[in-house]
Order: sequence, then C-alpha cells, then structure tokens
Amino acid sequence: MLFEDLSLSKSIQRAVYEQGYTNPTPIQEQSIPLVLAGKDVIGCAQTGTGKTAAFAIPIIHQLHRIVGSSKKAKQIRALVVTPTRELAVQIGQSFDTYAKYTNLTQLTIFGGVSQNPQVDALRSGVDILIATPGRLLDLHKQGFIDLDHLHVLILDEADQMLDMGFVNDVKKIVKLTPKNRQTLFFSATMPMAIRELAEMFLTNPETVTV
Ligand code: AMP
Repeated sequence: MLFEDLSLSKSIQRAVYEQGYTNPTPIQEQSIPLVLAGKDVIGCAQTGTGKTAAFAIPIIHQLHRIVGSSKKAKQIRALVVTPTRELAVQIGQSFDTYAKYTNLTQLTIFGGVSQNPQVDALRSGVDILIATPGRLLDLHKQGFIDLDHLHVLILDEADQMLDMGFVNDVKKIVKLTPKNRQTLFFSATMPMAIRELAEMFLTNPETVTV
C-alpha cells in the first residue's frame, strides 16, 4: 500500500513525502482507515513501529477538515496523554512535522519546568495538546485547560502509565472529556489490567496488533 491510497489531504501527503515515507508501516496501514472512520481503536504496538504517525496523521487530517482555515477561536480538539516528558516531546515533534502545511497549532506540556510559558501558549489557543498526566491535571485544576470541545483522546503507552502509577490520573483525565469523544488506546503489551482499562474507556473498539 502507498500513502496516496489512504485519501489523505494534499497538505498532509506533502509533509509525509517530505519525510521520505512512501509506504505506511503495518500499524499505520491498519489504524489510519479506522481512525478516519471515527472508530475507537486499541493498538498493540511498540515504539519504533511507526505508531505515532499511525494516530497523528489521521487526526491531523480530520482536524484540518474541521478547522481548515477558520478564524474561530482555537479550542483543544485532540489530546494525547503520554507517560514521560521524552515521549511527549517526540510526539509533539511528529505533530509539528505532519501538520506543517496546515493551520493547526499544537502544544506539548510536561512537569518539572515552569508552567508560565505553557499557560501563555494555552491562552493563545491550541488545537492539539500533548501532555503528561500530572501537569495536565494541575493546569486543568487552575482553569487553564478546557476539554469540553475535545473530539479525540489518545492514551499512549498505556502499560507504562499503569506501571508508573498514573492509573488514577488517567481515569480523572478521561472523566474531564466529553462522552461522545473518539478514543485511541496504544500499549506495547496487553495484560489483563490494560484490557480492563481499555474496556472502561473505549466504545466498540477495533483492535490492531502488529
Ligand atoms: P514511532 O514508532 O512512532 O516511534 O516511529 C519510529 C520511527 O519510524 C520514527 O523515527 C518515524 O520517523 C519513522 N517512521 C514512521 N512512519 C514511517 C513510514 N511510514 N516509513 C518510514 N519511516 C517511518
């Protein structure tokens, strides 16, 4: 399969080809059509499989169609929750790359640094937010984050979030998002505790394994 077979908008195809990618990886080939169709997806995939682009590309495609060149105030429409600062930064860089030829804006937030630049960026409005759980809840509690207009929630590295003790934070975050959201759930491993978590958060999910 080629990227051009996925019916992605030209601005995204251009950014993908600039990276030198011609063929989607197996996780991308399976996930992208499901995400574009609005399905909830459980993706069982390790880092290194092209998992980030498997959710970033279809989300950018959808938001680009919804938001387009609209001059309306920006609202958080996609939220990626990931366990570590390093992963958050990498995901933010991927969104930057693939959304390069769109008007979408994104912000990456994590703890251990001053919150002021993050708050300033939130005030000026973002479409896509990438966050670690603690800082997200902290800024939400202070009233800087509004998740009422969220279309899609991505829980990345769910098994690692569980191992790092973030399960209650993740549950709290899911409760802050609209019930009719689309949910994507990625994990490198799928032990029982992770399956149960996925069942709690997803509606009629499709499972993709690579
Ligand atoms: P990830 O699994 O998201 O950490 O991605 C692993 C690496 O694969 C990253 O360096 C990506 O830039 C690269 N990559 C993602 N998708 C593709 C693709 N379709 N073709 C070639 N490389 C890719």
